[in-house]
Amino acid sequence: ILTATGAFLYVTQQQNHPPEQLPVDRTKPTLVVLGSGWGATSFLKSLDTEEFNVVVISPRNYFLFTPLLPSVTVGTLEPRSIIQPTRYITRHKKRKVDVYEAEAQEVDPVKKTVTFQDLSDVRGSAGSVTIPYDYLVYAVGCENQTFGIKGVPEHACFLKELGDADKIRTKLMDCIETAAFRDQPQEEIDRLMHMVVVGGGPTGVEYAGELHDFLIDDLKKWYPEVADRLRITLIEALPNVLPAFSKQLIQYTESTFKENKIDVLTRTMVKDVKEQAVVVQDANKEIREIPYGLLVWATGNTSRQITRDLMNKLASVQTQRRGLVVDDYLSLLGGDGIYAIGDCTATSYAPTAQVASQQGIYLASIFQKLGQKAKLERQLNELRATSADPAEIEAVAKKLSRASKLTPFHYSHQGSLAYIGSEKAIADLPLFNGNVASGGGAAMLFWRSAYISTLYSVRNRTLVLADWLKVKIFGRDVSR
Ligand code: NAD
Repeated sequence: ILTATGAFLYVTQQQNHPPEQLPVDRTKPTLVVLGSGWGATSFLKSLDTEEFNVVVISPRNYFLFTPLLPSVTVGTLEPRSIIQPTRYITRHKKRKVDVYEAEAQEVDPVKKTVTFQDLSDVRGSAGSVTIPYDYLVYAVGCENQTFGIKGVPEHACFLKELGDADKIRTKLMDCIETAAFRDQPQEEIDRLMHMVVVGGGPTGVEYAGELHDFLIDDLKKWYPEVADRLRITLIEALPNVLPAFSKQLIQYTESTFKENKIDVLTRTMVKDVKEQAVVVQDANKEIREIPYGLLVWATGNTSRQITRDLMNKLASVQTQRRGLVVDDYLSLLGGDGIYAIGDCTATSYAPTAQVASQQGIYLASIFQKLGQKAKLERQLNELRATSADPAEIEAVAKKLSRASKLTPFHYSHQGSLAYIGSEKAIADLPLFNGNVASGGGAAMLFWRSAYISTLYSVRNRTLVLADWLKVKIFGRDVSR
């Protein structure tokens, strides 16, 4: 135990804080990274910063492990267990990295500048700044899709950011407490205890699963007077949920939801959102209202304003509405020195964390080569200037030509996982030259171990494991 503790402490103490890092070097190119999500973080983790002055700009100064976000909405996990400050990542770099918590507002691909604004509302907020870049890694992700449906931003809760999970948790407990208030009319109890999820993609399905667990494991004990009135309805416009999963897993999920009394309304489209009810149109084109207490909106994503502006500036080549178009090396079409990765791009891959993180790692390898190239070019110039041995010059020239050869990005799909509640998960895995679909307890163990191993730090792994254990022993915290 002592050795393990010693090793653990040694690992956690191995850090380069800014004072020990190489200082900014004005002779090196400036590399600006926009974002701190899956793409930007995996890029930063793998990046060798020696040959660049790196600046990171993101409205949140941390990385959020999104696959476990639904677990935060019901208190299975604590919010801080699944985030990691961006500075924890950049402190391991050779050269100091500037990290600004700010929102990028404009990219000028001609002048090669980025304008960003401090979001803080403390007095004396830093305002807006414009800086030049030599290279830009554009990884700003996307925002919630509402399809322009009225009432969504005002009345629904999204499930994308950490603050969203917190808002859902507060609203959920608020509904339950109010339903449990004395002498509430029966109809009002039914409305308050009706939790509606719109969108049957993985986000909506995982949230419905977590909510079900909360009901069975905790609410029944703490709120016996109203727990049985809790109803969960999942509304999906398509004929089935989880269109990206195999048929077998779709059926498994739908039958598990049936057992768990989660109502799935397929071929049903939300048309309007009111303060206490959603207006839906079903397969027979009939319109009706469904009253709700809590409404979670998970209908996918769309491009951010800054991305749409960038597309407009490069309109002759950026013709996809879905997102930014990049070449096989993730270089933005029409953007000199700009690379784009993750959900803000329109590629042949689904906009998932897995794709973004592989793109980030790949792009770091491109920058490794760019750095190597710059070093070798300097070396070659020095050798030529001093009329060095021709054999030596040729050897460096060969290395330079190797560093200039790039291989295109290739995505390797590792499978899809989703938690569906009641200790069951589904796994669609590309194994043995085919797809292996698995659902149930074994898939759940796999889900847990896969997520624990993909968490970026020992600290996060420890916190998540401790939260799971805590919930097993004490149950979830039902305080608002
Ligand atoms: P999604 O785009 O996968 O699903 C949204 C669903 O909402 C669609 O099925 C759509 O038909 C439905 N919808 C849209 N408008 C509607 C309306 N008005 N009424 C009713 N239904 C409506 O969205 P997501 O679940 O947020 O996922 C986004 C991306 O992230 C996807 O690529 C997904 O694969 C990925 N993701 C993966 C996982 C995982 O693998 N565990 C988890 C979360 C997200």
